[in-house]
Amino acid sequence: MSSDKGKEPGEGSSSRSATQPSRYESQKRRDWNTFGQYLKNQRPPVPLSHCTFNHVLDFLRYLDQFGKTKVHLQGCGFFGQPEPPGPCTCPLRQAWGSLDALIGRLRAAYEENGGLPESNPFASGAIRVYLREVRDSQAKARGIPYKKKKKKRNPTKNAADEAASSFPMQSS
Ligand SMILES: [Zn+2]
Repeated sequence: MSSDKGKEPGEGSSSRSATQPSRYESQKRRDWNTFGQYLKNQRPPVPLSHCTFNHVLDFLRYLDQFGKTKVHLQGCGFFGQPEPPGPCTCPLRQAWGSLDALIGRLRAAYEENGGLPESNPFASGAIRVYLREVRDSQAKARGIPYKKKKKKRNPTKNAADEAASSFPMQSS
C-alpha cells in the first residue's frame, strides 16, 4: 500500500558534485561573479575592459555594508579597545584581512579571465595604498595590530574574527 501521489523529485538530484573545485577556487569564482555583477549594476554598466582601480575602490567601499567587523569611530568610548565591554553604534565594516584576501583572488581571476597583467586594476598601487590605510585605521580603531602573526597563542580568537570572511552577497 504505497500511496505516493505524485512522487516529488526530491532533492537527491544534485548533479554538480562531479568536479569539486577547491575552496579557494570556488571562492574566487564567487568573488569574480560578484564583482562582475557589481559592474553590471552600475549606471551606466561598466564593461570589464573599462574597469579601473576606481571601480575596484568603490567596490571595496560598497562591500562595507556587508561587513561584520566593528570598527570604532574616533568619538566612540571603545575606540582602540580590542574587546569592548559593551555594544556601541559604530558601523560594521569588512575586516582588512578579508579585503586583502579578496583583492588577491580578484587579481588572479582578472588575468585568468583574459585580462592583461599590465592593466590589471586589482594590482594598482592605489589599491595597495587603500588597503594599507584600511589596515592602519582598523588597527587603531580596534586596538589590534595587523602585523605579522606573533606566536600563535590563542589562535582562535583573532583568527576566527578575520577568517570568517566569506562575502554573503552572491544571492543566487
Ligand atoms: Zn564603537
